[in-house]
Amino acid sequence: MGHIVTLDQNMINMIAAGEVIERPASVVKELMENSIDAGATKITASIEDGGRKSIAVTDNGSGMDADDLDIAFEPHATSKIKTSADLLGISTLGFRGEALASIASVSQIRAISRTKDSLAANSIEIDCGKKTAVTPASADYGTTIQVRDLFYKLPARRKFLKTANTEAGHITEQFTRIALANTSLGMTFVNNGKQIYRLSPNQNIRHRIAELFSSHIAQDLIETESKEKGLIIRALLGKPNISRTNNKLQYVFLNGRYIRDKFISHAVREAYRGTIEPNRFAVAFLFIQMPHHDYDVNVHPTKIEVRFYNANLVHSQILACLREKILTADFDTDAKLPTPHAMSPQINDAMAEFFKKHRPAQNQHQFDLQPQGRPKQKYETTRQTLPTSQTAENHITPQLRTGFMQIHDSFIVAQTDEGFVIIDQHALHERIMYENLRRRITDNKLESQKLLIPESFDLTETQADTIKNNTRLIERLGIELVPFGPSTMAIQAFPTVLAKAAPLDFVRDLIDLLQSKNTGYDTESLLDEVLNMAACKAAIKAGQKLTDTEIQQLLTDREKTQMPSRCPHGRPTTIKFSLDQLEKQFKRT
Ligand code: ADP
Ligand code: MG
Repeated sequence: MGHIVTLDQNMINMIAAGEVIERPASVVKELMENSIDAGATKITASIEDGGRKSIAVTDNGSGMDADDLDIAFEPHATSKIKTSADLLGISTLGFRGEALASIASVSQIRAISRTKDSLAANSIEIDCGKKTAVTPASADYGTTIQVRDLFYKLPARRKFLKTANTEAGHITEQFTRIALANTSLGMTFVNNGKQIYRLSPNQNIRHRIAELFSSHIAQDLIETESKEKGLIIRALLGKPNISRTNNKLQYVFLNGRYIRDKFISHAVREAYRGTIEPNRFAVAFLFIQMPHHDYDVNVHPTKIEVRFYNANLVHSQILACLREKILTADFDTDAKLPTPHAMSPQINDAMAEFFKKHRPAQNQHQFDLQPQGRPKQKYETTRQTLPTSQTAENHITPQLRTGFMQIHDSFIVAQTDEGFVIIDQHALHERIMYENLRRRITDNKLESQKLLIPESFDLTETQADTIKNNTRLIERLGIELVPFGPSTMAIQAFPTVLAKAAPLDFVRDLIDLLQSKNTGYDTESLLDEVLNMAACKAAIKAGQKLTDTEIQQLLTDREKTQMPSRCPHGRPTTIKFSLDQLEKQFKRT
């Protein structure tokens, strides 16, 4: 006996109507979700001609008996909910009972299914809503549903479909989302007879990401977790160097369902604030688990949006979890060296030769020239004496702090335990200044100093207004402005920390900035912009010669900085080179 029931009219009305099937990718999504709901551990999706000609999904799930097969394609036929109370805690991917019916009304379907305890399979065919009787068939247990010629009787909708490539792209995206959310499943994707993915079951998420995207992305992810108040968050966060121009590589899953949510996107953006440039998007995979009754999935026809009952809590908890990780992560950019085989073997050999001959004597006793002799033991012992946090690896340790030099009056090259780093002196100092300013201004105004001779400047009426509207902020910055005539003002005091900046120049730019940001900016964001500007102006410039003491100071301050890898605008401050890389380049390994 089947266990599917037809929902009553009341229920039908409760379930918001909507277009479920927009394009072939929607079919793939619905069929695969049904397979997951049926407890499948293995799913294969095959498409032809971007899914326009054929889509077939085969699973090894619970299967359907003859009765269920007969009713499954009827509107509002579902085995997943029975009463309205069930709507409050939906744990299956489907529940509306409308996917198969919708697909069946606009295509030709052939479905074969066999339950685990049955010896034979059954099949049924439906052509745009007209179904045949269920007939016995032969198949392994599980279900195969093949959908052919989607929208073939609806030329208007068929015309709306894009090229096979574009449609296949949408399908790949749906497959990817489901594959990320269900790493325990073995999943295969075949396009026009060509196997695109074959993902083994119980794969670790990083391996799966490597297969679905690239190993480069999988490597550059840092992982974090938090469990609080029934909300479990697991996040794999892309390092800033793999940030993108759009947010397509931000994946959010709620209890195994891919969702899009503006609160969560905002939390991700906030968490990365200051570590990536404002026009870039972080790569992030978030897996959230929370009790089903804490949100409503019945707000969107394809269930891609949900409604959280406590969106603020979700936002703040995600932000806190991500931010904490990002603040403590080592985001120094790895140097991108050409792979050894990208260089001609002659050049490579010549470099290796040169390296051997010209290695300075002082280095020779430090570096044992025998290929396996040197690095591992030496560096491992050094490392053990260091704190084990991730950032520690690239710390410029005190004893090595003498190993540095300035090049082109703009960059500092410094030795680290792992190799060496190149630091952009302006970018790093900007970050140090920014954090310094932030710390000082958080609960106080900046300390200021009276100018020996007040510096006066002319200003327009609008500029005067801007100053008036921002008195509080200007005061907080420790800048004292006094009227000095009908359209003149004088700077009487200026913050001590900004000693390196020229007061007049600074105040003019400040007024410009305040004027350009006078609408739609909250106080905090405005303050942040101002501090960014201040940090930039007060920081050491590129092209500025530094003394050894100044460099030492910079390196010491770097270690006290919370997020030393990025300047306040999110650009890298440090590029690191590892000995491993160098050895490969010089063919020593
Ligand atoms: P829903 O998933 O919302 O319940 P569908 O129209 O997608 O509605 O499917 C209708 C019913 O058909 C499901 O509730 C389920 O009982 C059955 N079904 C669909 N696909 C499968 C499958 N692959 N394996 C087993 N049962 C299935
Ligand atoms: Mg379904």
